[in-house]
Amino acid sequence: MGGVTAPPTVVPDLDELTALVGNGNAVVLSGAGLSTDSGIPDYRGATGSLRRHTPMTWQTFTRDPRGRHRYWARSYVGWRQIAEARPNDGHRAVAALQQAGLVGGIVTQNVDGLHQAGGAVDVLELHGGLDRTVCLQCGDVASRAELDVRLREANPGFRPEPVEGGAEPAVNPDGDVELPEEALDDFVMVECLACGGGPLKPDVVFFGETVPPDRVAQAYSLVTCARSLVVLGSSLTVMSGYRFVLRAAKEGIPVAIVNAGPTRGDDKADVRVDAPLGRVLPALTARLVR
Ligand SMILES: [Zn+2]
Repeated sequence: MGGVTAPPTVVPDLDELTALVGNGNAVVLSGAGLSTDSGIPDYRGATGSLRRHTPMTWQTFTRDPRGRHRYWARSYVGWRQIAEARPNDGHRAVAALQQAGLVGGIVTQNVDGLHQAGGAVDVLELHGGLDRTVCLQCGDVASRAELDVRLREANPGFRPEPVEGGAEPAVNPDGDVELPEEALDDFVMVECLACGGGPLKPDVVFFGETVPPDRVAQAYSLVTCARSLVVLGSSLTVMSGYRFVLRAAKEGIPVAIVNAGPTRGDDKADVRVDAPLGRVLPALTARLVR
């Protein structure tokens, strides 16, 4: 009879992952799966595939004023949930690994700011961030929280019933919710303060839009200087993230993929952990961070 009281949390391939990250200068590439525990859904994950919502596209947003108006009305309603989302154990684990000097760079496909809220610094937001707006006319970047104040002033009585019903409508990854079409006419949008009229866009990369080249170059530079690339919570469906896995593999930089469920990069991965991030990352930091 030994002194064993409870079995350790079993995480498959944790030894291999620990060895890789323990070598230092690991670059993290994170996706939507890291934020699902914070209540932000994944378009392509288990919940995402069930959603009726189609993501906003660059073409609709820039060419169709009604589409843009629809986005902002929905975003106004969804913003509170985005603003209230809190980092989870996964975000805190990444920050702890960074503080311990083991993570040399963080590239995220997420626009929710939760890495930073969890204590991480120098986060490269590949697809931008919902906490900022950019003017399509003059390029001025402004705070989304300040826009929210202006929108509240302009829309004192705007409290539409979301399509899905209930007091807490399910927010989409873009930070918007489904609203009935007739509610849109009651919403008043405000424009850019800097140039006095330019249409505002959240500072995020929409579907159909390209990631700014300097940002891509910065991410490539982090990856090619890394000792390993660690993908967290991404199925790597879009090339915007997958290309970094391809580059790392080409350069002979070991790739680890931690994701519950299969990913497009599985045959490029040296270490593949198929388990929930909320279990894997705390187990990893327990081994590596004193
Ligand atoms: Zn402007």
